[in-house]
Amino acid sequence: MAVVLIAGGSSGIGLAALRAFRERGDDVFLADIDEERARIAIGEPGAGRADWLKCDLTRPDASKAAVEGALAAFGRIDCVFANAGILESAPLQEWTPERWEKSLALNLSMPFYLAQAAAPALAKSDNSSIIFTASTGALRGHAGMPAYHATKAGLLGLCRALADELAPQGTRVNCLLPGWIDTPFNDGFWRFQNDRAEAERALLRQIPMGRQGAPEDVAGTVLFLASSAARYITGTSIVVDGGYTAV
Ligand code: NAD
Repeated sequence: MAVVLIAGGSSGIGLAALRAFRERGDDVFLADIDEERARIAIGEPGAGRADWLKCDLTRPDASKAAVEGALAAFGRIDCVFANAGILESAPLQEWTPERWEKSLALNLSMPFYLAQAAAPALAKSDNSSIIFTASTGALRGHAGMPAYHATKAGLLGLCRALADELAPQGTRVNCLLPGWIDTPFNDGFWRFQNDRAEAERALLRQIPMGRQGAPEDVAGTVLFLASSAARYITGTSIVVDGGYTAV
């Protein structure tokens, strides 16, 4: 069984992955900022063990602390799932350097620092991988969300560069590109819309499967990318979007 470090997993996609990993017997170390939700998440029953560290992953030193925490708890790391992200929406002229830097710190710098900190431990695993949660937002663009689209597109480049650098040590690096997944994450986007109900109807018309995804619709792809079934897959992306980007 594997040891998985999840950065951002007390809610949404990360939580669904945490549950799925533990259900199949993997041990999970969770790094998350939300103490109340994290305690509940790791307290749930599961075949695999769970531990956690409260940390603000916008801080560069938090990634190192998360890796050290996972190693202290379970002695090794086989998979890193860099999943936490932030979505800020504002008209262009309202973006401040602080806002821009915060998105950059969590969405793009955190996955880099986490990969850097975890790489030596991953090198010791016989099936190691890093999974970045990007987004179909890496392939598209919406008004009001320049930092989100820029950082998620940036993850694709980071993934390719690290896939090349870490392949010799046997570590695969891939991106997960969820489409519209129904979690609290999109609240900022919906608030930015003048007519939320109409915006939601318009969105669903663009999704061939006619609904937003649930976090559980994405978790299986995370498990697959971490598994030995994906042993020849690196430097690429998997879209999980109900057909949103196909049409
Ligand atoms: P969510 O809000 O349900 O979960 C985010 C998780 O990250 C939570 O556990 C939260 O506590 C944690 N987190 C947030 N900021 C943190 C910080 N500074 N330090 C540590 N932990 C922090 O969101 P979600 O929808 O599950 O999104 C997870 C990832 O999926 C994000 O990277 C997001 O960009 C991506 N994504 C989401 C969607 C969607 O439609 N929901 C679509 C595409 C991509």
